[in-house]
Amino acid sequence: MPKVLIVEDDPTIRTAVMRALNDMGYAVAGAHTAMTGLQQAVSERPDVVVLDLGLPDLDGREVLRMIRAVSSVPIIVATARGTETDIVRSLNAGADDYVVKPYSGAQLDARIRAVLRRAAEPEKDAVIEVGGLRLDRRARQAFLDGEVLDLTPREFDLLHYLAARVGAVVSKQELLIEVWQQPYGGTDKSIDVHLSWLRRKLGETGQQPRYLHTVRRVGVRLDAPPASAPPASAPSASAPPAPASAPPAPAPPAPASAPPAPASAPPAPASAPPASAPPAPPAPEPL
Ligand code: CA
Repeated sequence: MPKVLIVEDDPTIRTAVMRALNDMGYAVAGAHTAMTGLQQAVSERPDVVVLDLGLPDLDGREVLRMIRAVSSVPIIVATARGTETDIVRSLNAGADDYVVKPYSGAQLDARIRAVLRRAAEPEKDAVIEVGGLRLDRRARQAFLDGEVLDLTPREFDLLHYLAARVGAVVSKQELLIEVWQQPYGGTDKSIDVHLSWLRRKLGETGQQPRYLHTVRRVGVRLDAPPASAPPASAPSASAPPAPASAPPAPAPPAPASAPPAPASAPPAPASAPPASAPPAPPAPEPL
């Protein structure tokens, strides 16, 4: 059962949140100041920290940086100041997610599950392979059909995020939050621009996609190109049928040439003797 540390100075909120999470099956610890929160973040080894930004002894973001300095524990900031700058600054300072007060236990539960899932991802998805694409997250290297792909850090993050969710449509809003880390204020344009750069490096276009498929008005989906395998086997697979259908058309001239090739098996035995007869020819010749 995941352990959650709630750092919150308001006793009413702290008690209510701790009780709600406890009822949902979490192990819960509480701290009412930044300093005790910091100590418990180290000593209690929680799986997630829910951090109030408005604490009496230290600024919330200061605490955030201090926890970050000693631990990679996922941190969800809880703020009453639901302004864009506030949220963006918290995310930049190392928060993994945020909730705006007042928030429900159900919402906090969903956010906790999401950060725990993401925290578990790095190990699981260290190397992702989709079709001819291979992404090594730790080495931050990308390969396409065995060749190194020269990607910018943002391009790599974007491609990796999509590849980790292969087959699923990812909205531009989600990309802005997760890859660009701009919950608000980002523009779709920068995503479009990066997608077109990625497409060029992957040797495809929006009109003729292989890996990156735009789903109009929804987002983008990464898939292994189904067309890449067939083209290779197609020529040989379609080769036999072609000759077969070719003869029927030029029926008159073909019959003459067709029989020799396909029918060569039956007549061969008959003609084989003559072929092997060369030694024998001496006999017919004299006759
Ligand atoms: Ca507070």
